Amino acid sequence: MTDFAAARTAILQRIADAAARGRRSGRAVRVVAVSKTVEPARIAAAAAVGWDTFGENRVQERAAKADDLAGLVAATGAVVAWHLIGPLQANKARRAIELYDVIESVDSIDLARRLDRIAGELRPGRPLPVLLQANVDDDPAKAGFEPEVLERELSAILALPNLEVRGLMTVGRLVERAEEARPTFAALRSLSERLRARDGRLGPELSMGMSGDFEIAVEEGATIVRIGRAIFGDRPALG
Ligand SMILES: *Cc1c(COP(=O)(O)O)cnc(C)c1O
Repeated sequence: MTDFAAARTAILQRIADAAARGRRSGRAVRVVAVSKTVEPARIAAAAAVGWDTFGENRVQERAAKADDLAGLVAATGAVVAWHLIGPLQANKARRAIELYDVIESVDSIDLARRLDRIAGELRPGRPLPVLLQANVDDDPAKAGFEPEVLERELSAILALPNLEVRGLMTVGRLVERAEEARPTFAALRSLSERLRARDGRLGPELSMGMSGDFEIAVEEGATIVRIGRAIFGDRPALG
């Protein structure tokens, strides 16, 4: 059984130390506890020690666990938010809006338009918080807007009335050493600065960094880090 409280204390300390190195406050960094493959009872145990934001990368998995989780989490007295952090297919957009509070993985203008339309039906007057996923590594294997495409389409996305575009998100390359991820994180931050100078409706959030490299991401300005294994332990190998 994982000691969730001790792991949380250690992670928050590592974030505070990294923030200090980046001359920032660790309190400005939100942790998304990534609970893909984790069963509801363990997610509720993590909520009980204070994690209040969870992330998963699939709509179906979140849907399958949602009923169990609602009761288990409520029993701890915690109130938690859910972030979608994986690719979203058009035909699952409606379900995603029902199940998640923030969609971090908006990666095309078509998806943005579809989410805007459905959010206008499902939650009129309450714009849906989203992040725009950017592929700053020029990696053809990765999801996300190419930076040039994002620059071109940004104003059209920001004009969608039922989305609140809080900032940018990226998934770094797989690297051997955490330090190698730094250029990716610095690139996302400078893309954000460039885009925000052009259109101030883009929010300042930067979601970047995972278990292996979140300290580097915080040093480079992350406001959201997405941490799975360092909280819940290793996931089963993909079968
Ligand atoms: C799984 C996942 C994470 C968390 O990865 P860990 O290495 O377990 O911390 C973060 N972001 C995304 C998009 C993921 O799919």
